[in-house]
Amino acid sequence: MNIVLVPIGAVDPAELRMLVNPLRAVFSRDVVIGEGVPLPKAARNDPRSQHDAEMVLESLALSVEMERHDRVLGVTNADLYLPGMNFVFGIARERWAIISLHRLRESFYGLPDDPDLFRRRAVVEAVHELGHTFGLAHCKRSRCVMFFSNTVAETDRKGPEFCMRCRLHLASEGLGGRALAWGGGPVES
Ligand SMILES: [Zn+2]
Ligand SMILES: [Zn+2]
Repeated sequence: MNIVLVPIGAVDPAELRMLVNPLRAVFSRDVVIGEGVPLPKAARNDPRSQHDAEMVLESLALSVEMERHDRVLGVTNADLYLPGMNFVFGIARERWAIISLHRLRESFYGLPDDPDLFRRRAVVEAVHELGHTFGLAHCKRSRCVMFFSNTVAETDRKGPEFCMRCRLHLASEGLGGRALAWGGGPVES
């Protein structure tokens, strides 16, 4: 059993590969890259130039064969939202999760691209959403990866680490929940 990363719509393969080793280390299980799936047309909201996250997740759940996988993480460049929210970095339900790379790039904020920061943010969001699929709720500790982030500054502040309490929960699920060595060090906001 493994975690499968599924590109939804056009995604640079290197931007999927960069997630594999960090996720393997955190969740102590194999991580593979699966075949891509299209962005569901019905999920597109033209006036908002966004996709409905719930509908994208649903279509992912319907299109991935689960026999060999115990978790699915969809990765998309589409900007995601939920009714009542301007945007979401990702969502999760049961064994399925999705993250959007759209707002993780510095260029989205009118700044020069920073590949290391982008990679760190993508790992943080991937660990967060997969954390939900392993039964973790949002955590009050602002530096824990399970803290709910409203802004990319909050994503940068928390980093990809679980706090001790969340790590113990993962351990009780039979996961290593090992600390993730991160070369870049935490980014202060
Ligand atoms: Zn969350
Ligand atoms: Zn926590």
